[in-house]
Amino acid sequence: IIELKNVRKSYITGDLETPVLKGIDIILDKGDFIVILGPSGSGKTTFLNIISGLDKASEGDVFILGSNLTLLKDSHLTKFRRRNVGFIFQQYNLLTNLTAKENAEVGENLSSNKENAMSIEDIFTTIGMAEQMNKYPHQMSGGQQQRVSIARALAKNPNILFADEPTGALDEEMGRKVLEILVKVNREYKTTIVVVTHNPNIAKIANTVINIKNGLIDSLEHNDTPADPRTIDWS
Ligand code: ATP
Repeated sequence: IIELKNVRKSYITGDLETPVLKGIDIILDKGDFIVILGPSGSGKTTFLNIISGLDKASEGDVFILGSNLTLLKDSHLTKFRRRNVGFIFQQYNLLTNLTAKENAEVGENLSSNKENAMSIEDIFTTIGMAEQMNKYPHQMSGGQQQRVSIARALAKNPNILFADEPTGALDEEMGRKVLEILVKVNREYKTTIVVVTHNPNIAKIANTVINIKNGLIDSLEHNDTPADPRTIDWS
């Protein structure tokens, strides 16, 4: 579903060029629950931004769902993202003046992929938030707000869901709940999920773990018996 060939990324600030990704080759499979693990500053977010089409590689080829993103013009890249991928961030980025349901509808309206789309009501039921649909963000806990941001991403009916430290701002109980929902979405809707985290315990719930170190893939591991988010050590 995602293929990278010799991908490099440098950030340029004035005369200074900082190489961050230093030659990445990888193939990721459809339907997998993938975790990108690595220490702070190793290049995880840069990697996620490139495999999701949020940012462009400096060199190399990035194929997602058969499209070579490196060849797309910026406007086509935006269209591609809207149609195919959903995002969840550490900060939920909800619109404060809209209810939970209205926030999710933003996702629905962004999508040009209306086929097989679940209704907003079904999505809220799946994530255990049917009772909260008419609440505003300030009336909800952090974990509930993060679940609304998952609803917004799912309302697009995305082929791939990208999440950058989705539990980073949550306590243990809420964090586990959010991970349980991501696992459920992966199992029930077969959505490919890619999660960035610095927490090795969270990586135990994945069936594919990419270890990034110093801008390179240190290892790629497959796990046939992923852990239940309710049983992993959170400390
Ligand atoms: P963290 O876990 O701390 O978020 P990370 O593994 O996700 O780290 P990145 O955010 O990808 O790492 O950053 C990798 C390196 O690239 C860091 O040294 C960072 O300072 C640098 N970097 C990231 N974004 C930019 C940018 N827009 N301009 C310049 N340098 C950047």
